[in-house]
Amino acid sequence: MIFEPILLSTKTCIGADLNLWLSDHGGHGLKQALKAPELIIDTLKKADLRGMGGAGFPTYRKWQAIADQQSADKYILCNGNEDEPGTFKDRYLLKATPHQIIEGALIAAVAVQANHVYLYINPHQAEALAVMEKAVEQWQISSLLSEVAAYLKRPIELKVVKSSGLYIGGEETAVISSVEEGFPFPREKPPYPFESGVFGKPSLINNVETFATVPHILKNGAEWYNQLGIGNASGTKLYSLSGDVLKPGLYELPMGTTLRELVFTYGGGMLTSSHFKAVFTGGPSNTLLTTADLDVHMDFDSLKEKGSSLGTGAMIVISEGTSIVRKVAEYVDFFAAGSCGQCTSCKTGTYQLARLLRRIDTGSGLRTDLRALESLCSLLPGSGRCALIDGAATVVSSSLKQFYQEYQQQLID
Ligand code: SF4
Repeated sequence: MIFEPILLSTKTCIGADLNLWLSDHGGHGLKQALKAPELIIDTLKKADLRGMGGAGFPTYRKWQAIADQQSADKYILCNGNEDEPGTFKDRYLLKATPHQIIEGALIAAVAVQANHVYLYINPHQAEALAVMEKAVEQWQISSLLSEVAAYLKRPIELKVVKSSGLYIGGEETAVISSVEEGFPFPREKPPYPFESGVFGKPSLINNVETFATVPHILKNGAEWYNQLGIGNASGTKLYSLSGDVLKPGLYELPMGTTLRELVFTYGGGMLTSSHFKAVFTGGPSNTLLTTADLDVHMDFDSLKEKGSSLGTGAMIVISEGTSIVRKVAEYVDFFAAGSCGQCTSCKTGTYQLARLLRRIDTGSGLRTDLRALESLCSLLPGSGRCALIDGAATVVSSSLKQFYQEYQQQLID
């Protein structure tokens, strides 16, 4: 069977004109939702839709938690902050297909009875921001939005909110801080956003890709979505493929496609005369996979079984000639620069990891530096208010586990 993309199909990416999009293809999921709102969450449950922002949490559980809250005001936040190295799927969706994202967010509003829908966009993605602002203007005067308001029996606020453009601004509680106050400081949990989010109201925060997928499930049914995936995995996934491959790019493929197929079939294989060494799966805050793992299915459960994670679906491929220590040092520099500074362990821990990695990478590292790295990797996880510090420690500990010899070879004693 030839695989047909759903999020990136030519019909879905018809452009920014709402009427054209509605007349050709769009809006069916929302109409279905308005016809049978009581079935929306159950349909997502049967479809086994997971959050595509990194955690892979079952979408229906998040939605049900908000639907169960009693509040006159509820918020839907579409998280389009995307700022992690190697991930470039959401910015593409926002630019190419704004209406399916807004449609998905409005279906969520119907499902959980939310009267505020905010599209939270990274201002550094200027084109995506401009497209979304234009799309929102069109929805604000559309009859379909009036139908949603009529169903909710109150006006619905639909608008674009600019994020801070900082990496940490994509963290769930940081989204709330950012919308309320400007600077995206992550917050302690509990309370969780479903009980006390934006302005203390129940808030549903999902990733752009998650919302973009929802209309297709509502339109075509859960069973149809199940069958798109491979094995026990459901649906499709946007994989951001980058690094030392011939054809880097954004690929929408069945969820559960193997790493080998992505790299060697779709990605065209390694750059001329280079050999595969490793891949940072799910982005730089994750574990490394090596040649022995090439046949792993890239879905939430299969990667979890390997001790890894699908994350955002970013796959950063490294060739034999690339220094793992240098690559990891670059990523840890990114995390150190992205720390919001609230937690001492994160502020000093990421700095210290970065410093030790640089010493080793530049040929001045000692055996004690390597031992210090190992100690920090066991001390730091779980010590911060959010997962940034865990991500920095994970990429270091995974690289130490897989490429210890490479670290050792760069020491001077
Ligand atoms: Fe900020 Fe780091 Fe603490 Fe997260 S772990 S809240 S980024 S200081």
